Amino acid sequence: MPRRKKIYEGKAKVIFQGPEPGTIIQYFKDDATAFNNKKKGSIIGKGVINNLISEYLMQKISEIGVNTHFIRRLNMREQLVKELEIIPVEVVVRNIAAGSISKRFAIEEGTKLPRSMVEYYYKDDNLGDPLISEEHITGFGWANINEIDEILNTSLIINDFLIGLFLGVGIKLIDFKLEFGRLKSGKDENKIILADELSPDNCRLWDKKTNEKMDKDRFRRDLGNVESAYQEVASRLGILPQKAHSHNENLKFK
Ligand code: C5P
Repeated sequence: MPRRKKIYEGKAKVIFQGPEPGTIIQYFKDDATAFNNKKKGSIIGKGVINNLISEYLMQKISEIGVNTHFIRRLNMREQLVKELEIIPVEVVVRNIAAGSISKRFAIEEGTKLPRSMVEYYYKDDNLGDPLISEEHITGFGWANINEIDEILNTSLIINDFLIGLFLGVGIKLIDFKLEFGRLKSGKDENKIILADELSPDNCRLWDKKTNEKMDKDRFRRDLGNVESAYQEVASRLGILPQKAHSHNENLKFK
């Protein structure tokens, strides 16, 4: 394989230059971090599973007309994606209270929110990704008002679609994080595109019947059986066929 130029190494992925201009390669690592890098570890096989889950979800989302950066999966750990100028804003969509919103407003985890809620966080590890408003995004020039409108609408469309997709396989979509970017080149230059990944690393997924956590909270909160929870999500989505029907049985992630 020809030597590739590494562009950036993040907490869960490495980004390499792609084979053609306007493309990059995402390599999915097994490394896991939480609480702004204070907790570090490794989830065996996570990179492979997240690569497969993200491929599946990005393809499904593009079928409903959302523009995503995904081009194709290259191998078990890598996918070819469009090169974007990343907007430094993390978009969190929430359906049920958990994690930081539960802490911030003292809402018991598992409480259904009055409606789906979208929050924005500024992507900056040194600042601990602070919660921000639209005013900060437009005022500091991270995105303009039209871009924010599009990001908000697209995020809600993705949420509606994913709620149904996951419910169909016995999983409740509690919340998730999205990232967007602008196309760097070509006739659609500056078009807003869904970036990054969609996987149990950046979604909260609970079993519909038992509310058992099937996502990165198992790592964050030392709940154990992290690998098997990620595998179970992939199996239910039909990506790991050997376990495809396991969700009909009692769930224990063992
Ligand atoms: O921690 P919090 O409750 O704000 O997280 C909301 C959602 O966003 C969770 O699904 C979490 O996995 C995701 N998230 C993320 N990356 C971050 C912060 C949150 O993927 N830096």
